[in-house]
Amino acid sequence: MIELIGLSKHYDTVRAVDDVTLTIPTGTVTVIVGASGSGKSTLLRLVNGLVTPTSGHVEINGRDTRKIPSHDLRRRIGYAIQDHGLFPHWTAARNIATVPDLLGWPKARVKQRVQELMTLLQLDPAVIGARYPHQLSGGQAQRVGVARALAAEPELLLMDEPFGALDPAIRAQAQSDLKALQVRLGTTVLLITHDMAEAIFLADHIAVMRAGRIEQYGTPADILARPANSFVSGLVAVADRPFRYLSLFSVADFVEDGPADGPPIPADATLSEALARMIWSGQDTLPVAGMADHCIRRHSLIGVAGPPRSGAVR
Ligand code: ADP
Ligand code: MG
Repeated sequence: MIELIGLSKHYDTVRAVDDVTLTIPTGTVTVIVGASGSGKSTLLRLVNGLVTPTSGHVEINGRDTRKIPSHDLRRRIGYAIQDHGLFPHWTAARNIATVPDLLGWPKARVKQRVQELMTLLQLDPAVIGARYPHQLSGGQAQRVGVARALAAEPELLLMDEPFGALDPAIRAQAQSDLKALQVRLGTTVLLITHDMAEAIFLADHIAVMRAGRIEQYGTPADILARPANSFVSGLVAVADRPFRYLSLFSVADFVEDGPADGPPIPADATLSEALARMIWSGQDTLPVAGMADHCIRRHSLIGVAGPPRSGAVR
């Protein structure tokens, strides 16, 4: 468990981070979302000690990070940033080995760890390992950056807009790859984005930040269904909130008895896919693949998406 306790960072008159208290449960993904200048990067840098707090502190499993030597903190907290921050004159393999090398791991162990991480991140060690950052595609460089951040088996992975520099076409793939990797490794992740859809996809918990403060903290479903104020509901983008909310559930969870005609929808499709298909085809029910005499009903989905809110566009 990572605890941020009353953390503040003031620069002259700017309260970059203003009294933030947040608990990040072990093995979960917490996403901080907010506009540019809201203090997200400063908050992340307070966690790994790159920025010294004006007040407050951070605890990892009950231990005050101010009492942890910096080399130890560097091992325990991985840090990946938007422009990957790779050293341009080092190969991909050497970049990944940065922290283990700094920590003085034996050469054979470093080499083995680099191979293991490259394979895990779908980078061929024999081909990509010897390349320099300028010889990598954006997606490869981003994965090398993540491999470097994970190299010393950190308890916490900090990611500052890790997909910000990626082409939208590969962004979605990078997001699902990260999710799969996190599930597999069980690493605790604190990730920043300014994209609410990305937050909803990746997060177990979302913290919405504005002007250095946390405006709302909750699960994606909480934030979508009950935005705390007009700022949060604005971020959630009123017009497609119901669709985003429906995308959190799968067809299998809302199957009902009854027949339906037409091509079946897979049971693992999301409710937003189901609703989109119904709207497109003009059907009020859809059969579910592999489930005879079961269907999904448009009327029920509208109920899941919630009653219209005043001012909401439906
Ligand atoms: P975000 O990552 O959400 O865009 P930042 O944490 O980078 O926001 O910045 C939050 C605020 O703190 C901004 O107003 C920024 O100008 C200010 N700030 C950040 N770093 C410094 C610094 N080193 N010196 C002075 N002001 C800073
Ligand atoms: Mg930033």
